[in-house]
Amino acid sequence: MDKETELISIVLPVFNEEAGIENTIDSLENFTANQPQNFELIFIDDGSSDQSAKLIVNSQAYHSNIKLVQFSRNFGHQLAITAGIRYASGDAVVVMDADLQDPPAVIVDMISKWHEGYDVVYGKRVLRDGESWFKKVTAAMFYRGLQKITSIKIPLDTGDFRLMDRQVVHELSRMNETDPFVGGMVSWVGFKQADVEYERRERIAGYSKYPLTKMIRLAMDGVTSFSAVPLQLANWLGTFSILFSLGYLGFALMTQMDTAHFAVFSIFLMVGILLLSLGMIGSYLFRIFEASRKRPLYIVSKTTGFQDPPSPKTY
Ligand code: UDP
Ligand code: MG
Repeated sequence: MDKETELISIVLPVFNEEAGIENTIDSLENFTANQPQNFELIFIDDGSSDQSAKLIVNSQAYHSNIKLVQFSRNFGHQLAITAGIRYASGDAVVVMDADLQDPPAVIVDMISKWHEGYDVVYGKRVLRDGESWFKKVTAAMFYRGLQKITSIKIPLDTGDFRLMDRQVVHELSRMNETDPFVGGMVSWVGFKQADVEYERRERIAGYSKYPLTKMIRLAMDGVTSFSAVPLQLANWLGTFSILFSLGYLGFALMTQMDTAHFAVFSIFLMVGILLLSLGMIGSYLFRIFEASRKRPLYIVSKTTGFQDPPSPKTY
C-alpha cells in the first residue's frame, strides 16, 4: 500500500481536558499535515463535565478529520480506548493521551516500525518529566510484579501510547472484556511487537485524571484478568499458617510456656490471612459476576464528525 493512501487513526480518550484540548488538536493537526499519510482523530469523551466536548465539536468546523464519540457518563480510560479502536477505520490505530504527554513526533517512528512489518509498536518511556516519584515507582513496581505473575509478557515501562495494525485491532475488538486491561490484551493477542523509545513530557495543561484509587483499580484489573497467582497464594498462605500453628502447638506443649499474649498475635495473623484470601477470591468472583451480567461495556450518547452513521466494529 502507498503511504499516500494509508489511513492512520489516532484515538484520544478525553476526560475533563478543556484546559489543553485545543492545544492538543492544533499540535496534532500541524503534525499530521506534514505527513504523507492520511489521518483521522477520534476523540472519546469519557463523560467530561467541562467544555471538552464542545471545544472538540467547534474544531470540527476547521478540520474535517476530527471525530467525536461521547459516552453517556464516565466509563474510564480503558473503556474509552476500547470504544476508540472500534470506531477507528485506519489501517493502523495509534492510542495516545489527550494531554500531549505523548509527543506526536514519536508517531513517525512508530509508523516506520509498522512499515518494517511490526504489528504492534509500543512507546517505551525512557524519561518521565513532571510526574511524581510516587507514580514512577508504583508504576515500575506494578509492571515488574505483573510480569512475574502472568504468563503474558507486557513490555516494561510502556503505557497506552502505542500503534496497532488493523489486524491487531480486529482481534482486540472481538474481545468483549468487562473491566479491560488493554495493555495486557494487546500482549495477549500476539503478532510481531516492537517498541520505540521516547521521553514522556509533562502535561501541557490540567491535572492527571488518574488518582491513586483509579491506579489501584487498573492494577487490580491487570492482575485479576491475567493471573491466578493471588488465588494460589491463598493456598500457600493457608498451608503455611496451618503448619505454623501445628509447630507452635508442639513447641508450647513441650516448653509449657505462657502463651497468652502470643495467642493474640496468632489470632490476628490467622484472621488477617483468612480475610486476605477471602478478599482475593471475592475479587475474582466479582469479575465473573460482572461478566455474567452481559451489560454493554459502555454507552455512547452521541457521535459527531463521522461521514456515515458509524458502525463500531465488534465482530
Ligand atoms: N481519561 C479518561 N477517562 C478517565 C481518566 C482519564 O478518558 O476516567 C483520559 C485522560 O483525559 C487522558 C488519558 O485518559 O487523555 C490519560 O489520563 P491522564 O493523563 O490523566 O493519566 P496520566 O497520564 O496522569 O497517567
Ligand atoms: Mg496523561
